Amino acid sequence: MDILVLNAGSSSLKYALIDPQTGHRRLIGLAERLGTPDASLVVDGQAFPLADGTVEGALSQLFATGGFSPAGIGHRVVHGGDRFTGAALIDDGVLTAISDCARLAPLHNPANLAGITATLRLFPTVPQVAVFDTAFHQTMPAVAYRYAVPESWYHEHGVRRYGFHGTSHRFVAQRAAELLQRPLSDLRLVTAHLGNGCSACAVRDGLSVDTTMGLTPLEGLVMGTRSGDIDPGIIAHLMQATGRSAVDLTADLNRRSGLLGLSGLSNDMRTLGNAAGEGHQGALLAIEVFCYRLAKAIAALAVPLGRLDALVFTGGIGEHSVQVRAKTLAHLGILGLHENPATNAAHGRASSGRITSSGTALVVPTDEELLIARDTAALINH
Ligand code: ADP
Repeated sequence: MDILVLNAGSSSLKYALIDPQTGHRRLIGLAERLGTPDASLVVDGQAFPLADGTVEGALSQLFATGGFSPAGIGHRVVHGGDRFTGAALIDDGVLTAISDCARLAPLHNPANLAGITATLRLFPTVPQVAVFDTAFHQTMPAVAYRYAVPESWYHEHGVRRYGFHGTSHRFVAQRAAELLQRPLSDLRLVTAHLGNGCSACAVRDGLSVDTTMGLTPLEGLVMGTRSGDIDPGIIAHLMQATGRSAVDLTADLNRRSGLLGLSGLSNDMRTLGNAAGEGHQGALLAIEVFCYRLAKAIAALAVPLGRLDALVFTGGIGEHSVQVRAKTLAHLGILGLHENPATNAAHGRASSGRITSSGTALVVPTDEELLIARDTAALINH
């Protein structure tokens, strides 16, 4: 029983046909540069030009290649607001709710909806499920999710912390419990998802109790191109100093900040690691700030846990960068964590495991698509 997992973004569409039991991928691919004349579809590593560069056009061309009939379709949806605490079987009410949440994620939810609408037309009889990035964090208590702002902002405009990357935090927390051979219901973990976007999460007894991202994925850690936490006064300061608008400046915080802004070179940690090795000052600073801020956030997330059983690194940077893990752990002696350089160098995407000589930090590769496939299979078999 294969599940088609779709991640529809504004200009790209990732898809995979997955066996939810084994995690085996029968097909994986990517449609890129959607909405442009250069739109292309990559199936099993082979690129084909797309005649129709819309999401629906890409999916029609993909399915025209034939040969598969998914038992269910699982969609990654970025924002479920406070309406969704778990995955949902898609019906008209769910579609309306996803559309309502678009005011909180104007770049993401409309693209996710376009993917859902297209597959509903192409596969009208196949059950479809929405899996939300925010849902896992709905167990956060008010003390973690409320901002200290006027009450009306919360009640009238939904201004609260929601958190993202929930599927990844949930997946690696489960895997960490398996690796540690302890029940998840009895574990206190900090999970650090470090990809292009970065967030960390305090997972207590299997539930998210706090996380670094907030109303939007801009809050928290330093990321590839996003600033993470800044003084909100910076916006008014720059509006006055430059005459630019809040929208324009916020675009800079999303696209020209983070590792890219600090280094003046790149948003890509691999590029920065190489440049730092050659003495590039911007790259050196960007890596230092990234690790220092990450370590501070991890220490803060130990507060709602009371004790830390394990720190988990995941995502492209968390799984691959020995240097980022080492530098971050070097700041975390206060939590009893000390790197073991040999095991840190040995673990990565291909091998999960412990990278500390005292305290427990693990590398655990994430697999959000597999968890979406499992959530989808669980709901359609219900
Ligand atoms: P996304 O959030 O888009 O899914 P990924 O999880 O793939 O992104 O993470 C992308 C990040 O991982 C980039 O900063 C990339 O440089 C980094 N990365 C990938 N491989 C390595 C590597 N070998 N060493 C250091 N960083 C790496």
